[in-house]
Amino acid sequence: MVEPHKIGEKLTYQILTYGCQMNVRDSEIISGLLANMGYEEQSSIEQADLIIFNTCSVRHSAENKVYSKLGQYTKLKKSRPHMIIAFGGCMAQLPEVIKKVKKMGVDIIFGTHNLHEIPYLVEKFRETNKKVIQVWQEHGEVIESLPSHRKEGLSAFVNIMYGCNNFCSYCIVPYTRGRERSRHPRDIITEVEKLAGSGFKEVTFLGQNVNSYGKGLSESFDFADLLMMADKVEGLERVRFMTSHPKDMSDKLIDTIANGNKLCEHIHVPLQAGSNKILRKMNRSYTKEHYLDLVGKMRERIPGVAITSDLIVGFPGETEDDFLETLDMVQKVRFDAAFTFLYSIRSGTKAALMGEQVDQAAKKNRLLRLNQLQYSIAAELNRGLEGSIQKVLVEGLSKTNEDKLMARTRNNRIVIFSGPKSLIGKLISVRITKGKTFSMFAETIGDQV
Ligand code: SAM
Ligand code: SF4
Repeated sequence: MVEPHKIGEKLTYQILTYGCQMNVRDSEIISGLLANMGYEEQSSIEQADLIIFNTCSVRHSAENKVYSKLGQYTKLKKSRPHMIIAFGGCMAQLPEVIKKVKKMGVDIIFGTHNLHEIPYLVEKFRETNKKVIQVWQEHGEVIESLPSHRKEGLSAFVNIMYGCNNFCSYCIVPYTRGRERSRHPRDIITEVEKLAGSGFKEVTFLGQNVNSYGKGLSESFDFADLLMMADKVEGLERVRFMTSHPKDMSDKLIDTIANGNKLCEHIHVPLQAGSNKILRKMNRSYTKEHYLDLVGKMRERIPGVAITSDLIVGFPGETEDDFLETLDMVQKVRFDAAFTFLYSIRSGTKAALMGEQVDQAAKKNRLLRLNQLQYSIAAELNRGLEGSIQKVLVEGLSKTNEDKLMARTRNNRIVIFSGPKSLIGKLISVRITKGKTFSMFAETIGDQV
């Protein structure tokens, strides 16, 4: 039995975040809201009074992970009945999921459009001990000035827009995140200035399609204009962004990145598939020829630019020949890195209703071959940088070896090297000694240490 929150009572929470950077950012806002209510973060989830699931529904595998963890914690709740389980994020926007998790013993369900209501929903549950289910199907106005609790002090995610209007036929995001709406540039730049003022060195602008930022604003202002403003923010060293849709990549944007000082030479511009037939069925609104032109332009105008991609194998109707066209595009473009996925049926999307679903064994075989090719290209590109001097921002300790430091080049390559912890947060030059598939090793040079 849960009781209403008493004055002075110390309560704790833990958030389980799944999926993309948008969810990471949403979890920072949820933390801020809970901190304002007097809740403290609890590192041991088994001890927390409130557990919040911030979920992802982009692929079946992401949903499975959530269900398995949720099963674990609803079981734990039997021995800790005062523990509250709240369930939100993209999965909570889907009626069939709400039905299922209600039965699993979740106490509170909230959606992607009403995060700001969490304090009210938690209090309501504590007062009534009855399930509270509040999921908005439509988004409201963009809400500014919500509290937020950012985890670290070097690199920050900044939402510049919400939702998506593209309706790629495989994708659930337009259904879970609603229509595209942009934040006002003044609000974004104020946030960036505050971050720079409090010691953040890098911001990453987030949007499902940052290239269409600004549509619907009262004044004429686009993503390139926003980047130019961010480039001038004092104290900031680097500006990153994701994701760019190939259909909306303008010459103005490419030139802006080329001319910026802080605008990093890394563009994540997902190709998804290499066959025009499949791109059309995916509703991506570009051809492989257009994509290759774009790559040519970006490489010509932005020296050293890294181009990365998302690729899906096994989309309905994808034949072996279609897949070979994806491999061919990977050969031609030579992506610096790529996230590769097995197509996953998302009910409610157009592709879920298409015939000719590809069988799982064929999908897995294609993914294996695609990864083999992409990994060999990434390793080759990284080996090509051996001996070069790179300017890197030192982000912290290496995740795989705490005796080493981890830094990133402007074009998003991970660099591992030995050095004192005092270098963390600094921009330094290193010499690359070894290029591997996912990272490079380096040594410090000169008298920086
Ligand atoms: N808005 C971004 C864009 O258009 O590139 C990406 C958003 S989505 C969260 C990230 C990636 O997940 C997509 O680029 C796509 O490759 C992949 N994805 C989305 N739906 C998928 C599905 N049903 N099956 C497999 N991969 C999917
Ligand atoms: Fe999904 Fe396409 Fe929108 Fe990206 S652009 S979120 S893949 S619908």
